[in-house]
Amino acid sequence: MTTAPTTHGDILTAPAPVFRKGLALKQEVAGELAADYHSALIDRIRAADYQWQVGRLRLRLARESGFCYGVDRAVDYAYQTRRRFPNRPIYLTGEIIHNPQVNHRLRAAGIQFLSDPECDTDSLDPNDVVILPAFGVTIAMLTQFQRQGCTLVDTTCGSVLNVWKNVLQFARDGFTAIIHGKVRHEETQATASQVVQSRGGRSLVVLDRAEAQIVCNFIHDGHDEVAFLARFGRAVSPGFIPHRDLQRVGLANQTTMLMSESLAIGEMLRLAMLDRYGHKDLDAHYRAFDTICTATQDRQDAVALLLDRQDLDLMIVVGGYNSSNTRNLARLAGRRLPTFHIADAASLVSNHELRHRPVDVGQPALPAAGISETCTTDWLPADRIVTIGLTAGASTPDSVVGQVVERLESLTVEAD
Ligand code: SF4
Repeated sequence: MTTAPTTHGDILTAPAPVFRKGLALKQEVAGELAADYHSALIDRIRAADYQWQVGRLRLRLARESGFCYGVDRAVDYAYQTRRRFPNRPIYLTGEIIHNPQVNHRLRAAGIQFLSDPECDTDSLDPNDVVILPAFGVTIAMLTQFQRQGCTLVDTTCGSVLNVWKNVLQFARDGFTAIIHGKVRHEETQATASQVVQSRGGRSLVVLDRAEAQIVCNFIHDGHDEVAFLARFGRAVSPGFIPHRDLQRVGLANQTTMLMSESLAIGEMLRLAMLDRYGHKDLDAHYRAFDTICTATQDRQDAVALLLDRQDLDLMIVVGGYNSSNTRNLARLAGRRLPTFHIADAASLVSNHELRHRPVDVGQPALPAAGISETCTTDWLPADRIVTIGLTAGASTPDSVVGQVVERLESLTVEAD
């Protein structure tokens, strides 16, 4: 436990207890975590070289899937917090991770969500404990909790801290941080808030190649600042002046974006700067740091490997509909195969009917507000062996994936 902020700058005025390395109760909560999120079936499938065969079902599980190290740690700390402070109110700023089952369990354990309308953040006091999620919080939120004297349990993932370190360095060196991410995503909001911590720090969030192209056009032509600000008004830091702030830019990513798209955006920006300033001055105008985390990358690579087998009939991706990394796994697969992003086993209604989130093939995942569910019929090939690729986002527990496998088994048996 510390009482002085070390990773969030020096603007905090009222240090409160902060737990950043757990609460020394790891062993005590291990059994509870295993009971809630572990799956013996998924363990068996992994031990069987990630392949499973029952009746006419052939299953190929991605070699990397499910909980990442950051999520594992965040959920572990939340359970430890409940154990350590049984008689104090405990709050999450919002979803600890983007998975409905995990959030539901935390609510059931009595942890409250400040994002709920009935919770009043302004009334928090030193008796309250606040858990900061894996994707971090904005400087403004952190400052408020510190001023209110709340005990903090900081689960911000090390990979997110790495993004913050890089964008802060951009700011110190006079480069505007261009963040490839989703402007409403908690992690990207937290990252953008880090940038303005440094005097003169600026940021701009771009969602996709289409938005990057607008930025590149401005770097090249730079003649319509009003239109630019109208387009990116919510995505820029306060006081952003395109003519001034797009002369020197550094690219970073929300940790869960699609690697191929981030690389493409980086190349577009590099070429725009090259075109504008020439080869000799390129380093003074453009920098890039790949800040997509290893867990995200490993899960995307594992899906690519599965798709290369070329023996799959369809792909199922399990995870929260608002989970960025899950949606990107579905996008990867959806470009090559019929792919269904499902929330859990209940989405597999029958061997005729399946509820799922449409996959955003060819375009970036829609903002959270665009979440919707649709129903597809006759999704499961009948009367023959069916080979299904299966993966799960970094916020999906094995227990949920195990239930999906059990449901698939029962559906393929029923269809025999
Ligand atoms: S997806 Fe990456 S950055 Fe996010 S919590 Fe997991 S490991 Fe950390």
